[in-house]
Amino acid sequence: MRILFLSTTAQPETWLGPLGAALPDDEIMVYPELGDPATIECAIVAVPPPGVLTGLPKLRLIQSLWVGVESLLRDPTLPKDVPLARLVDPGMTGTMTETVLQHVLNAHREYEGYRAQQRGGIWRHLPQVRAQDRRVGFLGLGELGTAAARTLVGLNFAVAGWSRRPQELAGIATFAGPDGLRPFLARTDILVCLLPLTAETRGIINADTLAALPRGATLINLARGGHVVDDDLLAALDSGQLGRAVLDVFNTEPLPPDHPYWTHPRIVITPHVAAETDPATAVSQVVENLRRLRAGEPLRNVVDRAAGY
Ligand code: NAP
Repeated sequence: MRILFLSTTAQPETWLGPLGAALPDDEIMVYPELGDPATIECAIVAVPPPGVLTGLPKLRLIQSLWVGVESLLRDPTLPKDVPLARLVDPGMTGTMTETVLQHVLNAHREYEGYRAQQRGGIWRHLPQVRAQDRRVGFLGLGELGTAAARTLVGLNFAVAGWSRRPQELAGIATFAGPDGLRPFLARTDILVCLLPLTAETRGIINADTLAALPRGATLINLARGGHVVDDDLLAALDSGQLGRAVLDVFNTEPLPPDHPYWTHPRIVITPHVAAETDPATAVSQVVENLRRLRAGEPLRNVVDRAAGY
């Protein structure tokens, strides 16, 4: 099979070695090298330049190397009749769980509060809450949210999650749809966002939803910057409604040097590193979809374009 590797972000060299080793009988072209476009059956993409995929008449699979596909779906030239599969990578899921754990435990055990006290030479006990009394809530109970939620259940936290369709998950209080959002927020001390960015979820962390959280709650956004209305977040922090925000993703990336987030005393910033794609673990997911394509079996992780994720 002839495969086109097409990326404006991922470094081809980090992928081509593992891909070539796993697919010895296939020919992998790296864009802009195309050969005969009519012979390419699969495109492996990470933010491809617009318009290229339209010119591949025999394309049978667009395999994304990204978990979130909102930028691909925004491209009006993306072929509509070719299945689009996103990446679901167990290695990345494990890394995201570590990141959630890191920030939830920091909030739970007052890490930032003690750091601030140290800077002021202050020796003072801060309240220590039992895990079962700490209510953690996940916006999004998909691959990433569910794995992290289950880990926190294992540590005895009071865990809940909100999804589009109703779910039942052992040990997790589940809420769904627009009607489930407010009761979910009202019982959440630490809010972790792991939603895809879609027309329905853009701006979901706004003045209304932040006001629905218990006063002093913590926000951990590891999904996309577009989920947050920045001015509303700053206002909620400044009023004390929100206690702290941990932000890995931003409306503009890199975060502009003069952005007020940089110097806010109750914002923790990381530069979109919550879970990076690791070719070593991700390649097997791509290879499995190619095997299914060849065998005529149902593909994995096909994006529901109407839902936007
Ligand atoms: P996923 O498996 O597709 O799960 C998405 C979850 O969000 C599902 O539970 C889904 O509900 C829920 N959802 C979607 N739209 C909703 C709506 N309108 N209302 C309520 N719930 C809604 O996604 P994932 O693999 O967990 O990844 C989540 C996101 O993490 C990605 O889209 C990406 O943006 C982000 N991400 C960030 C990084 C980073 O480094 N910061 C790395 C990887 C991924 P259903 O269960 O009902 O479908």
